[in-house]
Amino acid sequence: MADHIPQDIIEEIRRRNDIVEVIAEYLPLKGSGGNYKALCPFHSEKTPSFTVTRQKQIFHCFGCGVGGNLFHFIMKYEHMSFPETVAYLAKRAGVTLPKSRFSATSSPLEAHKEQLYGMNELAAKYFHERLLNSPQGEKARSYLQTRGIDQHSIERFHLGYAPASWDGLLRYGAERGFQPPTLAEVGLVKARDDGRGFYDRFRDRVMFPICNVTGRVVALGGRLLDNLPEAPKYLNSPETTIYKKGTLLYGLHLAKQAIRAEGRVLIVEGYLDLISLFQSGIEHVVATLGTALTRNHVQLLNAYAKEAVLVFDGDTAGRSAALRGKDYFLQGHVRYFLPSAHVSSLMEALEGDLHVKVMLLPQGHDPDTFVQAEGRDALLAKVREAQPFIEFLLDAEADGHDLASVQGKLAYVRKLLPLIVNLGNQVERTEYLSELVKRTGVAPAALAAELHKLKSRAPASAPTAESHYFPPLGPERLLVQLLLLHHGWISHAQAQLPSDRVQEPNLRAILQALYSLAPDTGEIDVAALLERLPDEQQRDLVARLVLEPLGDEGVQQQIDDCLTAIQRRDIEAQLKGLKEEMHAAERQGDMVRLAHLQRRFAELRRTLITRAQPAAQRSETSVASGRAPQI
Ligand SMILES: [Zn+2]
Repeated sequence: MADHIPQDIIEEIRRRNDIVEVIAEYLPLKGSGGNYKALCPFHSEKTPSFTVTRQKQIFHCFGCGVGGNLFHFIMKYEHMSFPETVAYLAKRAGVTLPKSRFSATSSPLEAHKEQLYGMNELAAKYFHERLLNSPQGEKARSYLQTRGIDQHSIERFHLGYAPASWDGLLRYGAERGFQPPTLAEVGLVKARDDGRGFYDRFRDRVMFPICNVTGRVVALGGRLLDNLPEAPKYLNSPETTIYKKGTLLYGLHLAKQAIRAEGRVLIVEGYLDLISLFQSGIEHVVATLGTALTRNHVQLLNAYAKEAVLVFDGDTAGRSAALRGKDYFLQGHVRYFLPSAHVSSLMEALEGDLHVKVMLLPQGHDPDTFVQAEGRDALLAKVREAQPFIEFLLDAEADGHDLASVQGKLAYVRKLLPLIVNLGNQVERTEYLSELVKRTGVAPAALAAELHKLKSRAPASAPTAESHYFPPLGPERLLVQLLLLHHGWISHAQAQLPSDRVQEPNLRAILQALYSLAPDTGEIDVAALLERLPDEQQRDLVARLVLEPLGDEGVQQQIDDCLTAIQRRDIEAQLKGLKEEMHAAERQGDMVRLAHLQRRFAELRRTLITRAQPAAQRSETSVASGRAPQI
């Protein structure tokens, strides 16, 4: 998998990036004795089973079974390819990569993605230059000025201006080797309806480059400067291989450090809300760019924060018009509403470990106007007062139901009960159930009956982690595990057991890799060993075997016992085969062959008996008989 980048460079990158330090940028790691734990970002769990070890430089989740070295973590977490991961970690550690890394030798898909990044980065640069230097850019400059966006923010977020021309970017791209059909692929230009050529898609707009978590430009968003009735106010790049809306949060690449430091993330809706908060010094904030919060968003945030605060505009009249006709969770409720997609993602968050709160700004304010008018401290004070999501729903739904009537109470209970029983935290669950009793006057017994009905209707709960392959405990697994932990015995095992005698294919591949590294004495770098295993299942397995606790006592004895057991199994299988051959020879009356087979059978049986003897005695016998112990 690392064919295109020299191995010594990969190793240097790995040496210079400590796995604990890097993963700590993604997950809050809690340490003990060189091993660190966190909630697994790859499956939903309530107690941490995701483990990272500094000494071995690997990670493994005992819940879902994933594992590997730092490269594999980044690939999985950031959805990056191997070359992308190498480039990312190289940059982080200040290692210079050879120029040809994305040459014709890299995979076609990688080369294609790299081209998409290239075009978006080119466009961002073009728009940024237009904003800063061009006369037409004046209009956008003064717009940003009236919105209170300063020069530093313009640079930091690489804001731009798309001039009101039909071919500005088209020509700029062509001069730099990007042909119109490829620019059309990332939605920067469009083909004319009559099929004769292309035109710029973004015109007369303030431009916002949209970056992925590593800071690469994956898309662009543009806000119209003049409110033309026929054009959409906001226009975004279409989805591509490198841009998936539901997995992206605007600003996260700049906010992630602050989010981790605060343990909390504020979620706003627009570019300018986010930039404005950043400018005021509040940097633990991301924007959803108008889409509902998705499961992917929640999962992404869960890795950085314990608490997410949804910041909603106070001005709901305008919003209700904008959202009219969509599916509301809180139907008929004008003051507080959420698109239903929001709610289901949030419910998932609540089942996990992310505490979701809701913060409503005063009437007439959005985050941008509020922070500019009232300042940073006033906003942070509001954040501290944010209401837990369930409490918010209890209130909001109370307004939507007639709690004086029996029907109203029942409808209210039925709406909220499923949400409450799914809360991950037992204390919260109990608290909100009693709150429900208090608000409705419904007797706890009746609530329990309703709950019972709910449970009997619910489908069997899905397993929290997908079941993961793990070979059954036996001499093969134990042998590989022991050798992974005690490298000094590898050559000892290699002398006695060819790797092809191991039946389980994953264990066989791992043993082969261990043998091929074949150290005489010293240490094998497990993180490097993982590089030799192209199969994810095998890597997961290595990480698990290395991290599973195993006693250090009688290592040699245990290894020898495993070797003996595998060899015995092998001999027994051979004996069984010979027996069948002997029967066949007998039936055919081939006495010469039968005699030959009988001799071999007797020889093999002797080996079997020898193997049953204790190790010390056995080696003497081997020497005495002048026969190698190998079979
Ligand atoms: Zn996991």
